[in-house]
Amino acid sequence: MHYTGILYRNPYQPPSPLIEITQGCTHNKCKFCTMYKDVPFKMSPIDWVEEDLQEIARDYPGTTRLQFVGADPFVLSFKNLKKRLELVHKYIPTIQTITMAARVDNLKNKTVEELKELRKLGITNVELGVESGDEWTLQRIEKGYHADEIVPLVRKLDEAGITYWLTYLNGVAGKSHSLEHAKHTAEIFNQLNPIVVGSGGLTLFPGTPLLDEAQRGEFDPLDEKGMLEEMKNFLETLTCDCRIITHHTFAAHLTNGRFLENKDKILKALQHEIDHIDEDYLARIRKSKRTL
Ligand code: SF4
Repeated sequence: MHYTGILYRNPYQPPSPLIEITQGCTHNKCKFCTMYKDVPFKMSPIDWVEEDLQEIARDYPGTTRLQFVGADPFVLSFKNLKKRLELVHKYIPTIQTITMAARVDNLKNKTVEELKELRKLGITNVELGVESGDEWTLQRIEKGYHADEIVPLVRKLDEAGITYWLTYLNGVAGKSHSLEHAKHTAEIFNQLNPIVVGSGGLTLFPGTPLLDEAQRGEFDPLDEKGMLEEMKNFLETLTCDCRIITHHTFAAHLTNGRFLENKDKILKALQHEIDHIDEDYLARIRKSKRTL
């Protein structure tokens, strides 16, 4: 298999072979991220993709799922994605499901009709790293798109029948804008139909502009309690009939079943966590993290 740099995969998707379709990230400017800092964006050579598919067909006959990897392989044009999907079907005729990460603006270069065709060729789900639906926050973290672009772009997936996950980056607006970030993101998500909403808490990793800003006193990060309070504001506003995935310590209360059916129970568990928080313990766990 051909892989470049550190390989990231979605740990919540069922296990499946990983094919690197692109290297690096098309944007590579989000102020909290170092994932692909040293990997320039490129399409992986088509010969590599073909060789990897041959290897999967040989070593894992009967494969039904694949993850396309790279920061945002969904950025490829319809034509380029189609070419790769046709190769998948050539070598792995049993394929049913192909998933991958995406940026919201990866949807700009595809029509609904093209998305429908990609769905027929196996792209059934994409994971959208939205992070915030608050305009101030999006610009502050240099996410590279505007809040009012999110709903019209993501609705193209609904029209095409491609399911999607949305991520919310808890804490990324700092103390000063926490409430707006939580509320406005939930309000944007409420206009969409995610099957999963995923949330990670902000960790300030060495080498990120946001850590430099925090050290200069220009960014005011939340403590662990503030992060959970923000999460509560987000979930109180959220009305999506989805599953929730989070790295937080109260995850066990969240990840079982549908969010709406369990919303009261989840909010109570979260309040209990806030009332009995062990700030030092959680801060130690966060400090031990090495990457998003
Ligand atoms: S968060 Fe995602 S889009 Fe932003 S720089 Fe990192 S990999 Fe790229």
